[in-house]
Amino acid sequence: MRPPFDLDAMVAGIRAAERATLGRSITLVESKHPDDRAHAHQLLARLAPDTGRAHRIGITGVPGVGKSTFIDAFGLALCDLAAPGPTDPADPPARLSIGVLADDPTSEKTGGSIRGDKTRMPRLATDSRAFIRPSPAGGTLGGVAARTREATLVLEAAGCSHVLIETVGVGQSETAVAHLVDTFVLLALPGAGDELQGIKRGIMEMADLVVVTKADGELERPAHRAAAHLRAALRLLHPAGEPPEVLVTSALEGLGIAEVLAAADAHVARQALNGKLAAQRAGQNLRWLWALVDERVRDRIRHELAGELASIEAAVESGALPVLAAVDRLLTCWPPAH
Ligand code: GDP
Repeated sequence: MRPPFDLDAMVAGIRAAERATLGRSITLVESKHPDDRAHAHQLLARLAPDTGRAHRIGITGVPGVGKSTFIDAFGLALCDLAAPGPTDPADPPARLSIGVLADDPTSEKTGGSIRGDKTRMPRLATDSRAFIRPSPAGGTLGGVAARTREATLVLEAAGCSHVLIETVGVGQSETAVAHLVDTFVLLALPGAGDELQGIKRGIMEMADLVVVTKADGELERPAHRAAAHLRAALRLLHPAGEPPEVLVTSALEGLGIAEVLAAADAHVARQALNGKLAAQRAGQNLRWLWALVDERVRDRIRHELAGELASIEAAVESGALPVLAAVDRLLTCWPPAH
């Protein structure tokens, strides 16, 4: 039995930042079940007036660069900025300060449990001002991005001043995340030269801010060297314009975190002032539209043409039917006449 859907209760629960309701509503927007999609649309329509005010920050970097350690420290600094002082877990604040959509490698296996986050982001995971959610895996990249965007909107309606979206810097997910956020932060290891670490040029080009991690102990000097190399590389990538700032941090020692916060907020404030923020978000809405259209059309074709699809796929596999002819055949059968 699917639980009954109570739109008013869900909206009220989100506005009051009730954790159980937040969890349930993000599960709802992540669901691909047609009934859930319909409910998610109703929910997002109701939440719309309360969304759009958060600073959306993407955080990427290779595994081991220090993303979770950084987000733990950075997230805490953001919470202190929005609602200073430790909060009593028994007496949580009425509004959330920050939301984190974490790229938790264990979430697929554990079905989205937060166990992974308790070890990855121990301070933030137990802070009542923050809500951490492992992001969904699976589906098309555009589909995952669309659901991440919808989860972001839910967190914004719960009052978050900042939403952090983490993505592992492998594959194409970082590009998808760059198109969801206002500020895209690339974390880099304290190394130099070649190891500019296989950071792909495309990712460097998308970064609004570059942060070298682990600048403590014997890694402090290499971290500053890495920052100098990165600054030089970024100047080459941005010959005409202003290259992104490169900052050096130690999340373990809490060094440089306030500077990243100031630089990220300054970036979004500049973008808002020169009109780029509105243009960027408008473009992102178009991507969201097309991601949803692509996914829905794909799903409908798979669902509604199940019979023909099997034979067309078999014919393509065996070489009996050229791919281009198969596409034409598919689209002449769809949508099926009722
Ligand atoms: P992720 O895979 O990108 O999420 O990286 P983690 O945050 O799990 O960090 C990977 C490793 O780097 C762990 O062993 C951390 O303790 C270590 N690490 C992360 N941040 C720092 C830092 O600021 N200083 C030092 N020395 N080590 C760090």
